[in-house]
Amino acid sequence: MSTDPRVTYSDLDRPARFLKGVGPRRADLLGKLGLVTARDVLFHTPHRYEDASTVRPIRALETGMDATVVARVVSKGVLPTRKGLRIFQAVLRDGSGMIECAWPGQPFLDRTIRRGDLLLVSGHVRFFHGKQLQPREHTLLAREGEEAEEEGGALFPVYPATEGLPHRQVRKLIADNLDDLLEGARAEESLPAELRERLGLPSLGRALEQVHRPTSLEEAEAGRRRLAFDELFALQLLHAQTRRLADAERPGIAFPRDGRLVEPFYRSLPFTLTAAQRRVLKEIGEDMESERRMNRLLQGDVGAGKTVVALFAMLRAAEHGYQAALMAPTELLAEQHARTLGSMLADLPVEVRLLTGAMGARERREAHAVIASGAARLVVGTHALIAGVTDFHRLGLVVVDEQHRFGVRQRLELAERGDHPDVLVMSATPIPRSLALTLYGDLDVSRLDERPPGRRRVRTVLRHPADRTGVHDFVRQQVVAGRQAYLIYPLVEESEKVELAAATAAWEQLRGEVFSTLRVGLVHGQLSADEKDATMRAFAAGAIDVLVATTVVEVGIDVQNASVMVIEHPERFGLSQLHQLRGRVGRGGEQSYCILIAPGGPAVERLRIFTATDDGFRLAEEDLRLRGQGDLFGSRQSGVPAFRFADLQRDEDLLARAREEARRLLAADPRLASNPEVRGLLERRHADRLKLFAVG
Ligand code: ADP
Ligand code: MG
Repeated sequence: MSTDPRVTYSDLDRPARFLKGVGPRRADLLGKLGLVTARDVLFHTPHRYEDASTVRPIRALETGMDATVVARVVSKGVLPTRKGLRIFQAVLRDGSGMIECAWPGQPFLDRTIRRGDLLLVSGHVRFFHGKQLQPREHTLLAREGEEAEEEGGALFPVYPATEGLPHRQVRKLIADNLDDLLEGARAEESLPAELRERLGLPSLGRALEQVHRPTSLEEAEAGRRRLAFDELFALQLLHAQTRRLADAERPGIAFPRDGRLVEPFYRSLPFTLTAAQRRVLKEIGEDMESERRMNRLLQGDVGAGKTVVALFAMLRAAEHGYQAALMAPTELLAEQHARTLGSMLADLPVEVRLLTGAMGARERREAHAVIASGAARLVVGTHALIAGVTDFHRLGLVVVDEQHRFGVRQRLELAERGDHPDVLVMSATPIPRSLALTLYGDLDVSRLDERPPGRRRVRTVLRHPADRTGVHDFVRQQVVAGRQAYLIYPLVEESEKVELAAATAAWEQLRGEVFSTLRVGLVHGQLSADEKDATMRAFAAGAIDVLVATTVVEVGIDVQNASVMVIEHPERFGLSQLHQLRGRVGRGGEQSYCILIAPGGPAVERLRIFTATDDGFRLAEEDLRLRGQGDLFGSRQSGVPAFRFADLQRDEDLLARAREEARRLLAADPRLASNPEVRGLLERRHADRLKLFAVG
């Protein structure tokens, strides 16, 4: 498989079934954990550690202290209490004495904890008919008769496990094989020694040893950081290389300042640009002026004024006889953009053409003709526009709106087009800088972090489910006053069927009872694109008053008359997602409202931040802090790489170093010809992308 004969496979590629203590049945169970090769097992690292360095003899326990003990279960049972609460109790014994442990409300433990078990238990010691330990956590170290790991002063690693293969067996299996496995890891060190030293990172073998067999939490963390660096570094190498290639292929068009279109457009604007818009336009202007190809991400909240900025760039390309294309994710959005552009440019001598799959054959043929001739300078369409058969006369700039569904691969396709256009990707999803570098590391980033003045904030409030009737009354009033409303029942992916049923039932009920006098529509993910489109159009045209929606209402959809959004179960969603939803209202001149229906409790506390601010970047940072990277935009469609070790918030410094080092390395060795270990890293992690580094 390897294209480079210097890359050798160590025996970490051998199937896990050749490991000590693994027979066919174990191998199947390991397979359930996704562990197929010896390498998989080696990289199956603990998800937590029990700190046994604080283990005390039972005799030394005193009332009021927090303590950890390692002891055998000598008796156990479930006790009912008068209040109907059932308590699981066990008496533990170590070499020094005995103590009672009580788990109120957990009678089911009687099935998993057996007499003779060796447990590690930590908790609070209180006085209750004698000393009693109230366990906070407990870990089964060994069954009766099993070899015990009672050596104190260490951390007990706890591994992800599966039914039939409990964590203590995983631990034993790994412990028994670890020295051999580490031997293999030494043979596949992925970082040059010089780089490791500069960054103060341990070798791969050492890092894995630290993670599996740490003597302190600090040591485990040092090992984790090294493994995290590999993940971040591999990805940054791909980004850096993608960028190098995109830059190198550019024959070098520069769009010097001209002004024939830009100037009159500027004068025609009914407002002055915000400072952020001016700053971003300068950044874009510099890219366009230079021969360096533009590959830029323009981030900014809905309504921050991205479209205007994009138009400036498009006009600049058009001034020089080039064409500029604006791509939207859906036909509806493409049409909306074409209308906006058309009206903003009404007084300028430049034509805007729409090209979508929904157009009739004749119309489409005609559009193709004016695009191919170059008569249409500005073209708006869906992704099909550039992916497919469209011939441009001279395409100089592509603007991609709403990059969510537009990944690195498509950007590469764009880069490889014969005309090598400049690329500006617009995103209405503010994301933390660390995430931007991870997802869009090959792009330069501009931020529109200021809103045009005079925009009213969407009033955002929390309401208890008991007040739902009041909320519905308010929606009805707004509709009677001529407005429209969204009612959102967001879906959680795992339980889509049940939730969909709930949303559909809610719709039936709203339509039949609560809003029987109003026109109520429904859109959800199970509808065909055409059905969804038809309903959205009806809503946009004012033929529907209240739109019940399950999935995210089309990002970017602009129904200015909609002034209320009611969100059910907001506590299940990230702040960024809620912010995206909220962006659908407050687009016209009317005061708009976002009403979250949620009961009290801790899950709801987080929502208060959301009611207090409409700064999307701030909400995204909060999300990253509170929920972690995987959850940022609703797990699946986010495109966030599934890191096992790296944590974008904790490892921000590491990410910056990874980016820097990736660029430095490729500048010196663009094909990785003299860094076989780094090539090996990519081969193991991103084999499908290795062609970026093809020799010759
Ligand atoms: P985005 O694409 O970022 O969601 P738009 O470019 O569509 O935002 O702008 C939203 C609205 O604000 C549009 O009606 C636009 O004309 C207007 N707008 C843009 N920039 C300004 C500005 N500097 N001052 C006032 N209004 C602006
Ligand atoms: Mg927009």
